[in-house]
Amino acid sequence: MEGSKRFGNVDYYLLTFEIPGFNGEGLYGVNVDEYLNGIGFEYDLTEKDDKKLEKIAPVSAIQQLADIAKTALKESRTQPEKLIFSINEATSLVDGKYIFKSIVGKEKIAVIKLDFFNFPVKTLDYWNATVWHEVLHVKYFVEGRLPTMYPVYYSDFFDEGPLWAFDCLLDFSIDGWLEKQNKPVLKADVDLKQYHISHFTRLIQEHGYPVDEDSIVSIANDLWGRETDIHEIWEIMKKIGLDFDENSPIGRYLRLMF
Ligand SMILES: [Zn+2]
Repeated sequence: MEGSKRFGNVDYYLLTFEIPGFNGEGLYGVNVDEYLNGIGFEYDLTEKDDKKLEKIAPVSAIQQLADIAKTALKESRTQPEKLIFSINEATSLVDGKYIFKSIVGKEKIAVIKLDFFNFPVKTLDYWNATVWHEVLHVKYFVEGRLPTMYPVYYSDFFDEGPLWAFDCLLDFSIDGWLEKQNKPVLKADVDLKQYHISHFTRLIQEHGYPVDEDSIVSIANDLWGRETDIHEIWEIMKKIGLDFDENSPIGRYLRLMF
């Protein structure tokens, strides 16, 4: 194989977490292949092939992600030690579950993970909104308002508790803030708060928990655009009947901390 410029392997970081994976996994390694504007990029492809890399992560698109991330970090005053996009080649249709997921370690190294077959051609508005949203998730971890967590597929956690509720409740805070500050948001053409209320309500129903729509509306109104933290989120969850199994990693953590 010819030498590649973009598969640089210039840095390696090992992230550790307050909440381990559900099989006790505690370490998450990330390579940086190249930096653009100070933002790191990891390319995890089945082979180190430059042509394939250009298809999955074209330089022009990567540059765009770096520019948006840089602006979002600055304007939202989010200060991780390092921000790295981890771009992974999806190898099957069940991959691609990680299209945008923020992973932050105790070291305040932040990774935004994406699984692609090809770089999805989306509008600038889409990338703007999605990167902004994830950067605000990063902010929550970096500022210690949410415990750092080993990355899991939510589906793996379905037996252990409603991890998805974390995200729904956080999203009231995050998207509310983005909307109030006139920052880019996904679903800019709909009533965003109503969209999140319906999404949360549907998930609660799908997972077989009883739904009290009035409480969900008042939770959304209260959290919309304001900061919250893990303590408050867990209190809200318990109040509406969503809790974690005490033997799950999250349940154990929450019961030890609060
Ligand atoms: Zn979110």
